Amino acid sequence: MGLTSKSTGLKAIDKGLYKINSNDKTVIALAGNPNVGKSTVFNALTGLRQHTGNWAGKTVTSALGAFTYNKKEYLLVDLPGTYSLMAHSHEEEVARDFICFGGSKAVIVVCDATCLERNLNLVLQTLEITKNVILCLNLMDEAAKKHIYIDTDSLSAQLGIPVIATSARSREGLDKLLEAVEKTAENNASDSFKIRYIKPIEKVLDDIKGVLNNFNLPPIDKRWLALRLLDCDDSFKRSLNDYLKEDIFKNPDIIKALNDAYEYLNKNGIDKNNLKDKIVASIVLTAEGICTDCVRFEQCSFDKYDRKLDKILTGRLTGIPIMLILLAGVFFLTITVSNYPSQWLSDFFLWFEAKLSSFLLYLHTPETIYNILIFGVYRVVSWVVAVMLPPMAIFFPLFTLLEDFGYLPRVAFNLDHHFKKANACGKQALTMCMGFGCNAAGVVGCRIIDSPRERLIATLTNCFVPCNGRFPALIAVISMFLVCGITSAFQSALSALILTAVILFGILLTFLVSKLLSKTIIKGVPSSFTLELPPYRRPQILKVLVRSLLDRTVFVLGRAVISAIPAGVIIWIMANVNVGDISLLNYIAGILDPFGHLIGLDGVIILAFILGFPANEIVIPIIMMAYMSTGTITEYESLAQLKTLFVDNGWTIVTAINMLIFTLMHFPCSTTCLTIRKETKSLKWTLLSIIIPTALGILICLLLTQGLHLFGIY
Ligand code: GDP
Repeated sequence: MGLTSKSTGLKAIDKGLYKINSNDKTVIALAGNPNVGKSTVFNALTGLRQHTGNWAGKTVTSALGAFTYNKKEYLLVDLPGTYSLMAHSHEEEVARDFICFGGSKAVIVVCDATCLERNLNLVLQTLEITKNVILCLNLMDEAAKKHIYIDTDSLSAQLGIPVIATSARSREGLDKLLEAVEKTAENNASDSFKIRYIKPIEKVLDDIKGVLNNFNLPPIDKRWLALRLLDCDDSFKRSLNDYLKEDIFKNPDIIKALNDAYEYLNKNGIDKNNLKDKIVASIVLTAEGICTDCVRFEQCSFDKYDRKLDKILTGRLTGIPIMLILLAGVFFLTITVSNYPSQWLSDFFLWFEAKLSSFLLYLHTPETIYNILIFGVYRVVSWVVAVMLPPMAIFFPLFTLLEDFGYLPRVAFNLDHHFKKANACGKQALTMCMGFGCNAAGVVGCRIIDSPRERLIATLTNCFVPCNGRFPALIAVISMFLVCGITSAFQSALSALILTAVILFGILLTFLVSKLLSKTIIKGVPSSFTLELPPYRRPQILKVLVRSLLDRTVFVLGRAVISAIPAGVIIWIMANVNVGDISLLNYIAGILDPFGHLIGLDGVIILAFILGFPANEIVIPIIMMAYMSTGTITEYESLAQLKTLFVDNGWTIVTAINMLIFTLMHFPCSTTCLTIRKETKSLKWTLLSIIIPTALGILICLLLTQGLHLFGIY
């Protein structure tokens, strides 16, 4: 089909989106409701790998991608998923502003063929702004399974735009879509469908349009513009003024036209309060009318199967237990399976170290450089890779499978009641799920929460879910101190149970802290929201594997290795530069020691957490290096060897438990802090996001340790 694609260096675009530089490429916008396969279409056309997943709201930023079709270059702009362009949320504003002012030659609106009527709202609203719209009727395979038949010719004739049936997952129909894009972008559509509003509204729209014709305005439909002005859409007014660089609302002609319009509407029983309802009602009725003509339904077993499954997975008695079993199951598999590759990797790294070492000696590398490279950089990096890579490579695909299947929104549904009790939002559960991978991603994900109050609560508490950088440390400590002495068959199962308990503790704290925040500094009652439960979909196992390994695992691991390299150098230097007759590392650890012991840890552990600020995954390697009298990290051979090292340095079961608590509750890593700063645009909230978990972690460890000391347990 003559399609080639290339990355433009995927760029998240947000505010000021319409100011993109297209470099003479034809700009095409891609819009759609959440979870209709928009990212799948985007990826199929551009060859990029936008995150896809079976739940509404995961695409909260926009992306750019280029492709070439019939020797013409296009720039595809993936807009955030939105239900309407009436701008209730930031995402809707971004999508609306781009369609209005972005200079796109055509807008593809991706729709879900299994629920066309609801999706048509967005199509109709887009058609009000521009005629150059292509309706991409996606998920046709699912519609067929559900016995939903759509007369695409009739739909196309009614709307006056191309309607292309696709199943983007299997790339069906995409060649036709490209053909339509080419045609629409080249030849401006003549005329397309317009919603008919009730008579008084139509009359005033005509009047305002007449006045607007005297202005030099962007190339968007004047009728729609009139509607937005009439509707007092403040966010649109701001965007329009921003675009025009003048305030047209101060123009006497506009003021008069609007006042006349309100007066006329008032006389006809429409005031500013019910005007929006009337507008929305017309859109909804129009969509309903079109669908009655073009869509034929047959009730089928497919829906019944979804409903049966939902009864179990979201049932009052079964929902949460199944969720816990699944969580423990995922941990069990992660822990059991990752032991083997971890061992293989450490064997490999040991073997390779010998080779690398001989090579460096052969090059007559100076001793200090040799030591820094081998004992600093190489050993820290190999520890990070050997210990982190296997659990991630197992955990991420399992988690993505659940995501693709459509299970994550069910988790949010199950926990909604508890979040409400904590005066927070049920969607917070989804942001916590994202936090399992990476807290920075979880914080960005908080954008799916509409209410700013609840979004802030979710942001400040996200790091109570341990990210993948902290998992390996948790697993290692549990394996070394809490499940030793048990036959190996039960070890992994018990480890998984303890890990699940640790995560549950984190979730419990999330509820408590959310409640506390909403009673104190972020006061308010929870707002209501609609949570969409998507249909269950058979996950695409191969794609999930590739995607989660390439996108998530390599990304997180890459970040860990990048921070581990300089950290390795710094730690080695600190461990080998002496102050008096002890190393700098131990000197600083000595200063922190009294405080460390007070909370059941020691100075080395506290210092390791501080030095691990760039990436949590290097906390354990730092502890190892500091404990080694030689000032170098040991080869990672076995956890038993590691345990001996820790026990020799005073670790007891109390230290291990405190280590688990502090790993769960301390300041977020530097990337997450920067992300919180960016998302909240506030230093105060960023500092609070650091202070809250750290203070809580210290308090719990202090109480636990001192409490146990009272009973003579050390
Ligand atoms: P977005 O939220 O609109 O970006 O949707 P995604 O591209 O993330 O897709 C949502 C879910 O629908 C994912 O699980 C996709 O694999 C799946 N999906 C996308 N297109 C199709 C399709 O044509 N057929 C089927 N069966 N599933 C699809």
